[in-house]
This record gives sequence, C-alpha cells and structure tokens, in this order.
Amino acid sequence: MPELPEVETILRSLEPKALGCKIQKVAVLNAKTVKKPDPASFANCLEGQEITGFSRRGKYLLIEIGVSWVLVVHLRMTGRLIFTETDAPCSKYTCVIFYLDQGKEIRFQDVRKFGTMHLLPYREVDSFSSLSVLGYDALDPQLSLEIFRSMLKGRRGQLKALLLNQSFIAGIGNIYANEILWKAGLHPGRLADSLKTDEQKRLYQAIKDVLKMAIKHRGTTLRDYVDGDGNRGEFQNLLSVHGREGEPCPCCGNTISRIKQGGRSTYFCVYCQK
Ligand SMILES: [Zn+2]
Repeated sequence: MPELPEVETILRSLEPKALGCKIQKVAVLNAKTVKKPDPASFANCLEGQEITGFSRRGKYLLIEIGVSWVLVVHLRMTGRLIFTETDAPCSKYTCVIFYLDQGKEIRFQDVRKFGTMHLLPYREVDSFSSLSVLGYDALDPQLSLEIFRSMLKGRRGQLKALLLNQSFIAGIGNIYANEILWKAGLHPGRLADSLKTDEQKRLYQAIKDVLKMAIKHRGTTLRDYVDGDGNRGEFQNLLSVHGREGEPCPCCGNTISRIKQGGRSTYFCVYCQK
C-alpha cells in the first residue's frame, strides 16, 4: 500500500510533466472510483480545465484543477497514477483516464479498486472530513520535536498502532512504521507515554530520516507500487526489518522476529528494540 514516500514520489514524477496541461476529456471506466460528484458531473467539471498544482497531505494526493477545484486522490491498496502517451497499451485495471493535450494521458489504474477520487471546490478542501481528521503530515516542517513531545503526552496505546493512526501523524503505514521503530531502537509494543526524553527524540528523528531516505530512493515496491512514470521504487532493497522475518538484523545480526499487531505484521529485532 502506498505510504507517504510513495505518494510523494508519484507527485514529484507527475508534477513536472502534468503541470499546466489541459484536461480535454475524462473517461470514468469504474464508477466506484469516483466518490464525488457523480461520474458525469466529475467529467464535466474537469473537461477544459488546466492542472494548476500538486500537493500531498499524508497519503492523499491533491491535484489542483483550474482556480476553483481540487481533485483528492487516495490510492489505497493498489492504485497507480501514470502519465503516459495516448497510444500506450491500456491496462484492463484502468479506472479513470484523463486525456490531456499533446497526446498525453494520466491513467488511474487500480487492481483492487479501493482507490478513491473526490473532486471538491477549493474552499471545501480543508473541511473535507477525510483530510480534516489528519494529524500533522509526518514531514511537515512545522512538526517540531517540541510539538511531537506534546503529542505523545498522555497517549495510551502501543507505539506501532500510534504511528499507524493517521489522526496522530499522517502518512505512515505498516512498512515505514516497522522501519521507523527499528531505526529508533524502540519496541513496537512500548506504550507511547512511557518514552523517556531521549527515546522521544530518537523516534522523532527516525520518522523524519526513514521517510526522507525512502523518498530519496523513490519509494518501496513490494508488489504493485510504481511512480508516475510507471517505474518501480528502490527502497525495498534497503528495508532493515520489514518483510525480513528470520533474516539477520542489520545492526546486531540476531534474527528478526515477526508478530501480529492489530491484524498486521510487525517485524522487529528483540535485541535492538527495547
Ligand atoms: Zn538487532
């Protein structure tokens, strides 16, 4: 499932090519992808408009359309946004096609079909419930160590679950939660409000470092994820613990363990993570 580094990589690959392009026509091939408005109005609003901006909030990609609309995209499990030539072969999993000028297209492909699109008036974006519940974006420069410490105060529950909670901090999913906790040397079952001052700092720094490093390597492709050019990421080759049960910990050489937490696999090193 694409997390913050993957969505950021898609943004960075799409933006230079699609910014300023005009949407000539929209084809909604899977009506369920478009949550708002209905597919016909969706296409109507977009046709003839220019793509004027890209931004990201957590795992949401926001595409500004003209001066008054924002297309809010969530890729969920297997969604892909690919900038391509009109004559390139079309996947049978294509759900929405944005026909642009100069023989280009952006195609939204989605094998599992859980991905969503909401086209909202610009002024309604901040009050859109899916976005308004989000906590700080994990890479928001305004999220200082001081603020992070105050967010941890009085937080019950385990660290792993807290990192996955998008209303606590937005953008982190299972892969990066595992990697961040390993990097911070913190056990995934630790209670959030039990962290000492130096442990809080390590967690804060690990969040920033791991996500930035993953963006530098253009995200993690375990199965479906590709960037806006259709290219796989490279960070899967640099994962320290995620998906590596039974392999040696890169730090101490002891065997990496796997447990289930909240129905999801947690990979960690019992020696390095206290
Ligand atoms: Zn270790």
